[in-house]
Order: sequence, then structure tokens, then C-alpha cells
Amino acid sequence: MTVRRTTLPFTLLLDPVPADAPQTEFDDTFHEVDSDAPALRVGELSAQRGDGVFETLGVVGGHPQAVGPHLARLGTSAATCELPEPNTAQWLAAIAHVVDRVPHEGEVVLKLVYSRGVDSGPAPTAWLHATPAPDFAVVREDGIRAVTLDRGYPHGVAEQAPWLLMGAKTLSYAVNMAALREARRRGADDAIFLTHDGFVLEGATSTVMLCRGDVYVSPLPSGAILHGTTQQSAFEHLRAAGERTEYRDMSVDELRSADAVWLLSSLRLAVHVTELDGRPMPVDSERTRTLNAALLARTV
Ligand code: PLP
Repeated sequence: MTVRRTTLPFTLLLDPVPADAPQTEFDDTFHEVDSDAPALRVGELSAQRGDGVFETLGVVGGHPQAVGPHLARLGTSAATCELPEPNTAQWLAAIAHVVDRVPHEGEVVLKLVYSRGVDSGPAPTAWLHATPAPDFAVVREDGIRAVTLDRGYPHGVAEQAPWLLMGAKTLSYAVNMAALREARRRGADDAIFLTHDGFVLEGATSTVMLCRGDVYVSPLPSGAILHGTTQQSAFEHLRAAGERTEYRDMSVDELRSADAVWLLSSLRLAVHVTELDGRPMPVDSERTRTLNAALLARTV
């Protein structure tokens, strides 16, 4: 079969089918649209209220990365927001379609969006959008400066106030973007959220991992933060290399006195923190390189 590759950006609109639909063929449930042409209605709740969920994954050399964990999290986010359960087989078919059509050289960003739909309509809307990935080579090598920012909630917020949707990857990212602007105002590149009572949550768009002695630690994915797909891959890689990994609560003091700190996310992958709240941090550049080589080599 001849594959017709296209140029980026590339967009596919999806007509979501129920999770329990008996069908196994989905080609007639999605269609390609011109990325520059209007495609959504003005009543779209994703645009009006940020009412929907999303995932962003990397496609490296034609391999979509960590598809299983991304679709699992899409399902968790949808459940948290009381959206209909996504049909995983349909999303897999749509992802495969996009991957067949986009360039197989270098890194591509693939965003999956699942919205509550239009104001008056009963059905969710969904789309996939592929764009060229920014060049992260320098930041993967040189690292970033981070500041800690108070998220304004106590430890245990997810149980106390589930309506805050803390563990869902919702489209409402205005707060995360504001945190990045605040970080830049403070002379840094990125932000790490803390609970009001001094526990580490997550980066504005990443998961925190630190190394202390002979153990790599990430905050417990307790429902107050996203369970990072890149962090899960990083732990797998570390365990395969004989290292110890652990999920647990992490205080800000532990973060500041760590032997090394990384921020992990699907596109930028692993970046070490060179400076935290204006103070230099020890870095493990060699570990960053091996981590990123392993992350880039993923074929599933
Ligand atoms: N936490 C937040 C708030 C994020 O936005 C992201 C990624 O976008 C992550 C964590 C890391 O998740 P992943 O590694 O799946 O990209």
C-alpha cells in the first residue's frame, strides 16, 4: 500500500462513538480537515469554558509514544469530568491514521482533544491535531531554572474538593500558563507547584522527579496531580537499569536538598533543574542524557 504522507499541521475530526459500541471499524468516524479552515461551532464548550480534556503525545521517527498510558489518562480525565467514556479502539484507529499521514522524520506533536461538545448538543466533540515539535535539543542538554509557586490548596485537596478536577488533564490551562509567566517574571524558565502547606505537586506542564542517595522519587499520583506518562517511562527505564524508584509525598525542603531534580513531560522529555528559587542545584547531566536516549527510543 502506498502511504500518502502530508505536511504539518494536520487535523482529523472525530465523531466519538460510545465506548461499548460493537463496531470494530472506525474509518468512517473520522475525517481530515484543512487545519486553516473553521472546523468548530461557536457554541463549542471547549472554547467557551475549557470544558473538555486533552492529551499531548510525541511521535518520534513515526512512533507514537506511550499511547496506552495517554489513552488511559484520557479515560481517567473524562471520568473525573463526567464525560462519556472514550472508545479506546476508536482513538487508537484515529491515532494510527494520523501517524500514517504525518512525516516519519524527527519529532511531531500530536494533541488529542475530547470536549463536552456544543452548548445545546448531547454529543461530545473530538479532534486530533499534529504539528512540528519545537527543537528541545538545547534545553535537554543545558536544563532549566525553576521556581516553586504556591498552588493555593492544602495537601489532600483532591479528596476534600473533587470538583476542582485536580487530577484531570482538562483544557483549562490558563492557570498553568499564568504560572509560567510568573516564573519568567522571577527570572526562571519553569514553575513547580507546591501545596499551601509545602508539599511538591507537579510542574506547570510536567512531573517532578528527584534523586536522593540511591533512590529516584516522584510525588504520589494521588489525584491532586496528573500521573505523568513520561515519568512512568522514566521509572521503567531506571528500574530496568537496576535503580530504585519510589512514589511518595515530597516536601519542598526535600526538593531543595535533592542530589538532582528533573522535570519530565511528553515533548520536552527529561530536563534537569539547574537552579531552584534562585539557588544553584547539583545536576546529573549523564543521567539526563541516558534518560532522554531511552525516552526517544520508545517504539510504543
Ligand atoms: N503535569 C502537568 C500539569 C502536565 O501538563 C503534564 C504534561 O503536559 C505533565 C504533568 C506530564 O505528563 P506527560 O509526561 O504525560 O506529558
